[in-house]
Amino acid sequence: MSRGNVQFREDECKGCALCIEACPPKVLRQTERLNHYGFHPAEYMGEGCTGCGICFYCCPEPGALTVFVADGAAATAGGPKSKV
Ligand code: SF4
Ligand code: SF4
Repeated sequence: MSRGNVQFREDECKGCALCIEACPPKVLRQTERLNHYGFHPAEYMGEGCTGCGICFYCCPEPGALTVFVADGAAATAGGPKSKV
């Protein structure tokens, strides 16, 4: 079970790929679809996120992604690595 989870708001993402390059376990990728502004947004592949928050801290777009850190069996939105 992954220790973290990431959710993207695709229309806030400008497709710069900084989060993809920075993610240590390489669990992010760029989608082929275009968002409202014509960028290819990033997405989580669904497995392997550690909840480290590096993608959150390197993203230049406030609100483009949220990291959820696992808390026991449930993923929560609390903690300094998370944006609600
Ligand atoms: S929180 Fe860490 S492991 Fe999870 S997607 Fe972001 S950089 Fe990768
Ligand atoms: S989520 Fe942020 S860092 Fe990742 S591609 Fe989009 S704008 Fe760039």
